[in-house]
Parts: sequence; C-alpha cells; structure tokens
Amino acid sequence: MRVVVDYNLCDGNGLCAAVAPDLFEVDEDDQLHVLDERPGAALWDLAEDAAQACPKMAISIEEQR
Ligand code: SF4
Repeated sequence: MRVVVDYNLCDGNGLCAAVAPDLFEVDEDDQLHVLDERPGAALWDLAEDAAQACPKMAISIEEQR
C-alpha cells in the first residue's frame, strides 16, 4: 500500500492526522506531511479511515504492494 496526497486539494484541516497520527502530521503552517508513505499492514485500516475522513478527498490509497 502507498499513501498519496493531492496537495492541490488538501487544505490542511488536519482531520487525517487526528484519525491517523502515525501517518499524517500538519505543521504550524497548516502544511500536511505524510509521515509514512508505505505503512506496514498494521496501519492499513487506519490509512483507509483517514482517506475516508478527508473532506477534500485528497488522500488516495494505491493498493500495489
Ligand atoms: S484530511 Fe484531507 S484536507 Fe485535511 S489535512 Fe488531511 S489530506 Fe488535507
């Protein structure tokens, strides 16, 4: 799995980081950072939850492993 963020869509509201703080972080300038683009299997469900929580639909999950 690979986590991909479309930064043109992201507005830095931090909802993904609230759901999955091990995967996403929003800095003091409201810039989102993906902490782990290729998370281990233990975090896949959280990554999916974060993608669904994003109101901008900015997070894509690529399934190739
Ligand atoms: S939830 Fe979506 S819009 Fe909000 S910070 Fe995360 S990727 Fe960006």
